[in-house]
Amino acid sequence: MEKMRVAIVGAGPAGIYAADLLLKAERDFDVEVDLFEQLPAPYGLVRYGVSPDHPRIKGIITALRDVLDSGAIRYFGNVRYGVDVTLDDLKKHYNAVIFSTGAIRDANLSIPGVDAEGSYGAADFVSWFDGHPDVPRTWPLEARSVGVIGNGNVALDISRMLIKHADDLLPTEIPENVYEGLKANPIQELHLFGRRGPKYVKFTPLELRELGEVRDVDMVINEADFDRDDAYADETLMKNKQVVVMTRIMDKWRAEQKEREAGEIAPASRRLHMHFWSKPVAVVTEEGRVTGLKIERTAPDGNGGVIDTGEFETIPMQSLYRAIGYFGSPLEEIPFSEERGVIPNDKGRVLDITGEQIPGVYATGWIKRGPIGLIGHTKSDAMETLECLIADQDKLWSPEETAAEAIPALLESRNVPYTTIDGWHRLDAHELALGEAAGRTRIKVVPRDEMTDISRAE
Ligand code: NAP
Repeated sequence: MEKMRVAIVGAGPAGIYAADLLLKAERDFDVEVDLFEQLPAPYGLVRYGVSPDHPRIKGIITALRDVLDSGAIRYFGNVRYGVDVTLDDLKKHYNAVIFSTGAIRDANLSIPGVDAEGSYGAADFVSWFDGHPDVPRTWPLEARSVGVIGNGNVALDISRMLIKHADDLLPTEIPENVYEGLKANPIQELHLFGRRGPKYVKFTPLELRELGEVRDVDMVINEADFDRDDAYADETLMKNKQVVVMTRIMDKWRAEQKEREAGEIAPASRRLHMHFWSKPVAVVTEEGRVTGLKIERTAPDGNGGVIDTGEFETIPMQSLYRAIGYFGSPLEEIPFSEERGVIPNDKGRVLDITGEQIPGVYATGWIKRGPIGLIGHTKSDAMETLECLIADQDKLWSPEETAAEAIPALLESRNVPYTTIDGWHRLDAHELALGEAAGRTRIKVVPRDEMTDISRAE
């Protein structure tokens, strides 16, 4: 092979790292990479999933932008795989495709009442506060008491966004509509539920510490949760460095709670209640609206899991968020595991239902391995997929149309208003200028047509 033409579908970190690593990989052929993205702007979950009050993580965009600006990759934004370009089109123009479409839906929680008004998936709320163009501009923030199910970092993100005073988010890149929505948020109590104990959380220490540092919020702890945990946690877990640090963080909150109870610290106006060993069993509703969450108390089974205790409690609330993990979405003509929410694959080689490799089709990132791990993990993941792709060079597609102009011509013939890297620079500069005029770093443009028009200078 003299030249490998590769299409990558999904311009989040997984797709951009895969493009970068492929261009840098040791190989004996040239490579041309076209990156397709269904949104007008690149960066996937870094732009539309990372919380706006996490500028350090958002800063990964700088490294991703350097890759896009290297001149070696073409970017086609606002192009939907399966609608604007099909698998047949890709076969006609490329030797292979890598899907890096991530996981942007909420995992299902099958409990009664979960579809009631006031019950939301975390992914939808994150999309709203991160200014995703495809979700409604307004979000109903009317509840004084709110529940969040899950003990992972997404649960922490949405808890912070719900409990923080809106003015403390003003220096971030939140869109205007999000600031206005959060400003009217009347929340006083937030209840965070984990089905296991304090030593089994999926939080990371930095993010947990940050929760306790939110201004004007008291952390409320149930001491009984810790007795249960200490009695059963196994020795390996007790020595795990992350667990040790997080136990220290929670011990500090317990000590502060005692000082508050003794009247030594003035109470804050908002409270965040940590409920461990609390398994959600039903959303309590009245006239179709959330009024509470019924939980069953659990107990450790000695192996890191839990057993039911038959003790139930209902915590009153007017809205509830499920942050129990993301889930991938199926792609046209590509196999999909409904159970795991991923494309079935072996080290990134996509497999059909019989377990046979489908030539020319690869996957990387969360759509390959499921929605776990930090952004940096996508690099090693992409490396594994690329090693397979390079090793398979003699078994790939043989495209008929290899001229550089063929893809833009195809998109134009279908009236697809695609965006380019130059277009992204225009939108980026526009958002930064909006921010500067308001004394902020950036103000995101939210409507899809406005994003596209600015990118295409129309
Ligand atoms: P996660 O880390 O897998 O956490 C999911 C949580 O939901 C766990 O506590 C899990 O409990 C719980 N859960 C799952 N099913 C449940 C059920 N049926 N009932 C009750 N609870 C249930 O997922 P995530 O929070 O979506 O995060 C995804 C990845 O992105 C993680 O790797 C995370 O670290 C990363 N991330 C990082 C940041 C950051 O700021 N650094 C921000 C967001 C996300 P069990 O443990 O008992 O299963």
